[in-house]
Amino acid sequence: MQFKSGVITLIDKLEYNDEYAAEVTRHGKYDEHLEAQTPDITLVTCSDSRVLEKCLDDEIGKIFSIKNIGNRVMPNLGSIEYGTGFLKTPLLIILGHTGCGAIHASMSDISNEHTHVTKSLESIRPTAANIQKLIIRKGGIAGYMKEHLPNPDSHISEQDYLETLVTEANVDRQVDILLDDEPIRKLVYDGKLMIIGAIYDFKDIYSPRRGSIFIINVNGETDVNKLKVVDFLSDERLITDRMKRLLQY
Ligand SMILES: [Zn+2]
Repeated sequence: MQFKSGVITLIDKLEYNDEYAAEVTRHGKYDEHLEAQTPDITLVTCSDSRVLEKCLDDEIGKIFSIKNIGNRVMPNLGSIEYGTGFLKTPLLIILGHTGCGAIHASMSDISNEHTHVTKSLESIRPTAANIQKLIIRKGGIAGYMKEHLPNPDSHISEQDYLETLVTEANVDRQVDILLDDEPIRKLVYDGKLMIIGAIYDFKDIYSPRRGSIFIINVNGETDVNKLKVVDFLSDERLITDRMKRLLQY
């Protein structure tokens, strides 16, 4: 039969959707959201199926969500401006993640990949090259990793560690691009929008609590020690306790 697995998958998903719609209707979950949406986060994250919005909130109408491989800003700048400018979310989160295939691919030979996959990842390759050079300058990956491993029980390989450094650098780069965008920069300058760069970890690199989020960047600042004493954050233990990063420039 043609499209056999497509048909089987579709049946499976429609069965799921049947239960979902029954549940949503029974509990009136859309009752307050029929006329408009009022999300409180604009979220840019990776398309990876293991990174779920519900790690932040699973309520309907809370997260204005944008996904692409490698959580890149440029292909979706219009959507991001819509979330922050029109819907006025006070928070914009760029969420990278451990074990990211897009980061891995951007550090590999992908010349045989589909054209648009290659194109999509092209913007990450210079970041990967810069981090490799930085680590060479700092004396090599083995020594750097020994000094900067937040979870001592982690059994991460040097390659996975390097890819996590590039993941952080890629998030930093995306925050920089956002701050180069005039409407977004103005919102941040006026204190109406806070941009957070963060990493979603399910590989035990930052902590053994899989699915935790760690803050690596606030409004472009990447130095965790500086961030912990910043005026509007220093008293917020819930936030400062989550500030952790591997990469130091
Ligand atoms: Zn990914």
